[in-house]
Amino acid sequence: MKIVFIVFDGLADRPIKELGNKTPLEVADKPNLDKLAKRGINGLLDIISPGKRIGSDVAHLSILGYDPYKYYTGRGPLEASGIGLELNSDDVAFRANFATVSEDFTVIDRRAGRISEGTEELEKAINEIDIGVDFIFKASVAHRGVLVLRGKGLSDKVSDTDPHEVGVKVMEAKPLENTAEAKRTAEIINEFTRKVYEVLNNHRVNVERVRKGKLKANMILLRGAGRTPCFEPFKERYGINGACIAKTAIIKGIARLLGMEVIDSREDFMERGKQVFEALERNDFVLLNIKEPDEAGHDGNYERKIKIIEEADKMIGMFLDYVEENYLVVLSDHTTPVSFRDHTGDEVPILIAGPEVRSDDVTTFSERSVYKGYLNRIRALDLMTYMLNLTNRLEKYGA
Ligand SMILES: [Zn+2]
Repeated sequence: MKIVFIVFDGLADRPIKELGNKTPLEVADKPNLDKLAKRGINGLLDIISPGKRIGSDVAHLSILGYDPYKYYTGRGPLEASGIGLELNSDDVAFRANFATVSEDFTVIDRRAGRISEGTEELEKAINEIDIGVDFIFKASVAHRGVLVLRGKGLSDKVSDTDPHEVGVKVMEAKPLENTAEAKRTAEIINEFTRKVYEVLNNHRVNVERVRKGKLKANMILLRGAGRTPCFEPFKERYGINGACIAKTAIIKGIARLLGMEVIDSREDFMERGKQVFEALERNDFVLLNIKEPDEAGHDGNYERKIKIIEEADKMIGMFLDYVEENYLVVLSDHTTPVSFRDHTGDEVPILIAGPEVRSDDVTTFSERSVYKGYLNRIRALDLMTYMLNLTNRLEKYGA
């Protein structure tokens, strides 16, 4: 028996006035999700604990059964792993942004005019800087990238250089604890900041950008320092092979660090469904993350959220036969209300469909309809155990 988790990122919402106090999930036409709700068991899920606001990285750790309070070391290493860097246990990783600064390091644009080309060349120039320690800088999508400091005697207890706003100066990295390692790392980072400006400000790519009336990418802003988390591999922990299909680097990064197969999600929804079934040929567990509902939430666009649900529902139809013999879990990793445009800590709906679930009276899948479900209210951290039990894979505790 196989297990599939379909995680709709930021799907859950709050009642919206313009929708007659309904949520996008309540308004959307989603016959297949409703069919599964009818056949399955439904309930509410606390990703961490009631009301706790979290990011998608923390949510996915919890959903995969890894307690974030124990394992989460920051977003930097997850992002670095997600864009394909192999991390050592002593590494300290940061999220990075190409930015535009003036001569006195006042931030003009945190995204360097949303730079889209030439970052490989800038990356090369940055990697030639000498800051007295091994490091890798890697540009990823658009203005984003990661910085990994390598070697002994480093600390992740240093503050961001990213001021998170424009019109103010690039922050000086400061040690966040009174240790030689933290002080040294802060000094390294501050030297990195100075030298990045030196090599980038008059770099050929930037001269060309200025000529075209674009903003220079002459600074790297750093945030989210973190040490490589040390996970028990997914296979060892659960005794099954797992795969993760996602677009987002941090989700892929978590999966890679857990030793799961990592697959880049295709664009087309039906193609993503096919990817799940292809991955199931090699794995007993597949998690598919669908990023778009969260983006619609952050954009405050309920119409788009409804449309995404309706599109994704067609793909969900591919699983109606599958659940005759196998298990499917559909959930949201947190609530991203279009009214708030960011994650909130509201509980989220979950359904589990499969051959031996004790199906309930819920007939439609939504934030409110599931409260009558048999599953009641559970914690994400218990979900893997719950599914291993349903698929008869658990060892007995006691005689
Ligand atoms: Zn999320």
